[in-house]
Amino acid sequence: MKNGFVIAIDGPAGAGKSTIARKAAAALGFAYIDTGAMYRSVTWKLLQTGQPFSPELAGRLAREIRISFRPEGSLNCVFVDGTEVTEAIRSAAVTGLVSRVAAVPAVREAMVAQQRRMGREGDVILDGRDIGTVVFPDSPCKIYLTASVEERARRRGKELEAKGQAVDYDKLQADIVSRDKQDMERETSPLKQAEDAVYLDTSHMSIDEVVGAILKLAAERRLRA
Ligand code: C5P
Repeated sequence: MKNGFVIAIDGPAGAGKSTIARKAAAALGFAYIDTGAMYRSVTWKLLQTGQPFSPELAGRLAREIRISFRPEGSLNCVFVDGTEVTEAIRSAAVTGLVSRVAAVPAVREAMVAQQRRMGREGDVILDGRDIGTVVFPDSPCKIYLTASVEERARRRGKELEAKGQAVDYDKLQADIVSRDKQDMERETSPLKQAEDAVYLDTSHMSIDEVVGAILKLAAERRLRA
């Protein structure tokens, strides 16, 4: 079966990929797959076992896990083995461990297989770290979305404050830098810009401007595909 049109959005932590990808997918009538939520789901499941992290355990759970998405208004609800984990996978405990889990080759193998299956079902936007380089290297429409680390910490902090949480901006920034370093320096599928990806620095752009730029690019690339 022929693949649908695949839009690949990669970039560092807190660059706004999920918000942008969800909005662009809604505007285009495409499915949206938040691949970061998949690695977070495996991490959540591992924490639920109460056992310490090991690559073997992470790999086994990644092969067994059943992850599904259901869009609900502005939310992209995530389910693991039938349990809703939309909020739970954003916890500090999950965020602190996810890059170690995502560095395990067996975990990546299981997730990438599932992402490719989902991507073959129709037109789709995926966001993550390795979509344009590894998961769908033939995608005709790749974007590398980034922003300054200060701006990314500021945006994440505002989100947390809106939920009523106290925010330590220095710690937030240090956590983002540490997660980016782990994601960029791992051996398997490190975060990097695909050669044919369009680089988009959103530090001084609004959400609507970024979505607009992606829709324009997608329209151009679809004409050529
Ligand atoms: O996108 P988000 O920040 O939710 O991703 C959480 C973590 O999942 C990343 O820091 C990274 O370690 C991992 N990830 C990955 N490959 C992807 C998507 C996310 O390794 N395609």
